[in-house]
Amino acid sequence: MYSMKFSILTLFPAMFESLLSESILKRAQENKHIEFELYDIRDFTTDKHRRVDHPPYGGGAGMLLACQPLFDCIEAVKKKAKKSHAVVFFTPQGKRLEQIDVEKFSEKYDEYILVCGHYEGIDQRVRDSLVDYEVSIGDFVLTGGELAAAVFSDAVSRLVPGVLGKQESFERESFSEILGRKREYPQYTRPENFRGMIVPEVLLSGHHQKILDWQNNKLT
Ligand code: SAM
Repeated sequence: MYSMKFSILTLFPAMFESLLSESILKRAQENKHIEFELYDIRDFTTDKHRRVDHPPYGGGAGMLLACQPLFDCIEAVKKKAKKSHAVVFFTPQGKRLEQIDVEKFSEKYDEYILVCGHYEGIDQRVRDSLVDYEVSIGDFVLTGGELAAAVFSDAVSRLVPGVLGKQESFERESFSEILGRKREYPQYTRPENFRGMIVPEVLLSGHHQKILDWQNNKLT
């Protein structure tokens, strides 16, 4: 039984292929900690030309993803979703995602239905009726919600128990509670001297308290 599922609704499912078939996310799927299912929104349109967008009422540049394909797609996915699920729409107008939100999302639901906008966005009625959370990944504008869905699912996945191995702990990391929500200290590995750049002596001292103090002083 998977701990967490991400159902991703997009016009471009192929954009997720490499993300899901490499490294930690690949291993986590193989170990059945997380599961991804991709849906092509275009498969849900009833338009005979497979059209999914129309110009916005009131004018303005660009096109909007229309109600029908999105309502049908989201409703179909919700019908087969886990009992504990939430629909997330990615938009620059949403709440900017921070690590504290990622922590809450990793615990709150068993499945996220991630809706990727495109063009100028989506019809407001989808947002009003079917969306539980609106999330932005920063104050800039992307061409589509796919990268935002990738960021969201990657950040939430790594907090799902079992996804990270011992070597990849998330406890003492940037923005973690244990580091006071600050940014991590500098880190070094072998060799001690690389092109005259020397590893700070305290890190080689083996003195745990002094190392901790040094690291805490370097948090920003
Ligand atoms: N017209 C929209 C606006 O001004 O807010 C921007 C639409 S954007 C070109 C197309 C889609 O990309 C959005 O519907 C959204 O799904 C996604 N997107 C763009 N920037 C984003 C961001 N910063 N965070 C999350 N999603 C974003």
